[in-house]
Amino acid sequence: MPFIITDPCIETKDSACVDVCPVDCIHPRKDEPEFAQATMLYIHPEECIDCGACVPACPVAAIYESTDATPSHQKDLIEANAVYRNGDADAMAQAEAIVKAHVAAQPALMAIPAAERQAAHASH
Ligand code: SF4
Ligand code: SF4
Repeated sequence: MPFIITDPCIETKDSACVDVCPVDCIHPRKDEPEFAQATMLYIHPEECIDCGACVPACPVAAIYESTDATPSHQKDLIEANAVYRNGDADAMAQAEAIVKAHVAAQPALMAIPAAERQAAHASH
């Protein structure tokens, strides 16, 4: 059961999770050319070893420990994490399209500052 990155990452994207991940399964990294264009970061579902190191590292609580733990209004981003493959233009476009649709579908939640959004999701 992979860990999932959700929407508080969108304005944050600080790569703190990348720095602690022991298997380098979070992309794009800052040193990858795809970083600038990515709206958020994604966890490769088959490469993640469920170690949990990324969760406390994230300053905005964007990472959930499983698909079940992911709140209802974030569940569309499970698929974005699942399809993203760094360097694969089609896969990246597919993931980014899911993220853009996610942002467009819930303007009220996305207007909440990233650091407070996790709590707002928990109450929905
Ligand atoms: S749970 Fe561990 S392996 Fe999976 S993304 Fe987080 S730090 Fe990486
Ligand atoms: S630590 Fe959190 S906000 Fe920062 S890049 Fe990772 S998921 Fe995104």
